[in-house]
Amino acid sequence: MLLFRQGEGFIDNLSPTSLQTLSAVRERSENRTFVKGDLCILGIESTAHTFSVSLVSEKRGLLSDVRNIYVPPEGQGIHPTEASNHHAAVASKVIAEATSSAGASLGEVDGVAYAMGPGLGPCLRVGAVSARTLSLALSKPLVPVNHAIGHIELGCMLTGAKTPLVLLISGGHTMVVSCSSGMWRVLGETLDLTLGQLLDQLGRHFGFASPCGRRIEEAASKSSRYLPLPYTVKGNDVSFSGLLTASKRLVDAGEPFEDVCFSVQETAFATTVEVTERALAFTGNKEVMVVGGVAANKRLAQMLGIMAQRHSAEFHVVPLKYSGDCGAQIAWTGLLEYKAGHTIAVEDAGIRQSWRLDTVPLPWRSGA
Ligand code: AMP
Ligand code: MG
Repeated sequence: MLLFRQGEGFIDNLSPTSLQTLSAVRERSENRTFVKGDLCILGIESTAHTFSVSLVSEKRGLLSDVRNIYVPPEGQGIHPTEASNHHAAVASKVIAEATSSAGASLGEVDGVAYAMGPGLGPCLRVGAVSARTLSLALSKPLVPVNHAIGHIELGCMLTGAKTPLVLLISGGHTMVVSCSSGMWRVLGETLDLTLGQLLDQLGRHFGFASPCGRRIEEAASKSSRYLPLPYTVKGNDVSFSGLLTASKRLVDAGEPFEDVCFSVQETAFATTVEVTERALAFTGNKEVMVVGGVAANKRLAQMLGIMAQRHSAEFHVVPLKYSGDCGAQIAWTGLLEYKAGHTIAVEDAGIRQSWRLDTVPLPWRSGA
């Protein structure tokens, strides 16, 4: 069985015992009565801090979403090898929990989707190995999913947005995209750090462990004192590295934590809303949607909502529970990809650490 690809390192979570367990589950499930014509996809997310597995059904929607998150020590960011060791240690358990909490068995799964990229190499490899193992053990097709498209498609499914202008804003992305001729087109993005990285790196400077966005939001809500900071918009792109340096200097100069957090949020969010608004004026989309981990921030949603209203566009925010990385984004998009016939041979099911979303054709959006 091809479990390990050259250069993907050694991952020992899917031991022969795990495989025997999987075979046993498959055999047990062979007598179950399936919902006729229903399509069931298992999705695996492992691009960064989160190892998560979800089952979705075409007729019944999201059936489960189980997550196990790697938390680095205080003051530190995600160490890719440490995170991947975490993922390898929990993979079998998360797969089993996601299946049982869906009230399903692995035998009901029609396809195995996994986040092929973009993300941290060692973390992606755990997801890829897990997916290949399941695909071989269950004799079901593999479906590669772009993680960024996963955020967007899950957001559309949960909010009911059809063809929105999207602000994808997370630990890995800060991008404004709109769909045209069956592909997401990038209308603006960060030139250096993502907004999530800005907040996480600032938080770590205060001594917190990543992710720090929620703690920064809490602190910011206690202040209204704005400290001037660099505001960088270049064309329709944004840049946050100067803002990070300047805000760290404010911290070192002894400015109150709450005031620095408030000022950073106001500055970073204003630049992001500015480029989103310019993109909206250009495309004329009738809907705006924000997705990704930073979409959990209420101040950002407020600013975007005011902007969308000014353009008479409907505004959608992905539900808090599904704003961060999760298996549901991979399972749901995997279902769309599966229906479009986008499956992949086990031999080709590697990883793509820098896989841009604007290179992925989306047949289900070809009318947009
Ligand atoms: P993701 O990569 O999609 O899982 O998103 C993770 C990013 O979202 C991290 O950079 C977090 O700091 C950030 N994040 C999570 N909650 C919040 C929040 N309430 N406000 C701002 N950023 C947040
Ligand atoms: Mg993400």
